[in-house]
Amino acid sequence: MGQIFAEHWAVIHFALILFVTCAQMLVVYVLSDSSKPPAGLGLYTVYFMTALLGWIALTLQQRASMQVGVDLPAVASILNSYILFMAAGQRALIVRGRAILGGICLLACLSVFFLPPRRMFIVQATVTTLFFAGVGILCAWRSWQQRNTGDAIIAGAAVLMVIGMPLSLYQHLRSGDGELAQAMAFGAHSASFALVVIGFLASVLIEYQQHLSHMATQDPLTRLLNRRGLEDALYLSLAHAARHELPTSAIMVDIDHFKKVNDSFGHEIGDQVIRQVADFLRRMSRASDVVARTGGEEYLLVLPDTGLDAARTLAERIRAAISEHPLLADHQRIPVTVSVGVACTTGAVDLDALAQEADRALYLAKRGGRNRVASVESKPVHLSSAAARG
Ligand code: GH3
Ligand code: MG
Ligand code: MG
Repeated sequence: MGQIFAEHWAVIHFALILFVTCAQMLVVYVLSDSSKPPAGLGLYTVYFMTALLGWIALTLQQRASMQVGVDLPAVASILNSYILFMAAGQRALIVRGRAILGGICLLACLSVFFLPPRRMFIVQATVTTLFFAGVGILCAWRSWQQRNTGDAIIAGAAVLMVIGMPLSLYQHLRSGDGELAQAMAFGAHSASFALVVIGFLASVLIEYQQHLSHMATQDPLTRLLNRRGLEDALYLSLAHAARHELPTSAIMVDIDHFKKVNDSFGHEIGDQVIRQVADFLRRMSRASDVVARTGGEEYLLVLPDTGLDAARTLAERIRAAISEHPLLADHQRIPVTVSVGVACTTGAVDLDALAQEADRALYLAKRGGRNRVASVESKPVHLSSAAARG
């Protein structure tokens, strides 16, 4: 078998790039929900498409089947790195610097008509390094903010270019070996493009997985935690309470006669009321308290390191605030009251048992006439020894 790579490497390379990119884009499109596509999807798609066009231009040029007057791969490389910069900015929700770098991109692309290839390479290496530095900063920032390794991979691709392009420029200027410098630039572009493809796919997948795990622990209507989210959020503080014998309180809140709200104003207004009561509870509780929606119009607050008296005070404040401020939904005043049950325990917490105690107190509040607070307390039993008594 003869050597196939030397002659056909450009075509093989292009085919590889094409298939990998198409497969990646297919997965991204299948995953992306059209009502909420991943941020930056449009610009990343443009980036992948123009990059493919660039690789086509390079492949044709390498096979010498098409001789064009201008250095198309150089223009494609500049344009691509700017599009990637914009895509990374859109994904990181930072759009500063677009106009200035856009102007630089335009000037650099136009210079292909005036500069000889040797000078054009200098422009290409300098400008792409600048754009990729921006991509690296944006993606590293997003990776840190969102805890997303996919963006870190794209930042890695940018670092590769920020190192590779100046090295190829150095080679170009120092020894005047244009071919070696071009080969180095090609290698940097090729490796970084593959990393961007993998990084973007990983970023979208990780984002999707984070979204799913959010949905498993969060109530979509109020964005409060659901029951499972509550348990996850309390894991550490309950272990702390058990270790140091600290009190933990639970407040169960239930909207009074909510069926009537639905019947009189409609289900949509009912949803708005549920959301507004959730906002009230969120605002009135401390950062260390955990608030969850545990039923249709029922909420559970768990207050670590809080005794019964402090919990009762908060419960009374919640009850009073909601009954004194009629809620506004669709310009209608909706008079709403809540009944509140409070329970407290010390040391190790059985969350189900504590919630049941709070529910028992809530039942007392309902039976007592609604729009009121009731509490029960479960104290650990202390038995003194016979010797101590004697
Ligand atoms: P009580 O004072 O005894 O709590 O009476 P209530 O009418 O509030 O309680 P009940 O349990 O009889 O009715 C609760 C109602 O809440 C019935 C259900 O249709 C409604 N509901 C449950 N989930 C939702 C929701 O997500 N949105 C809306 N709009 N209504 C809901
Ligand atoms: Mg109710
Ligand atoms: Mg209820």
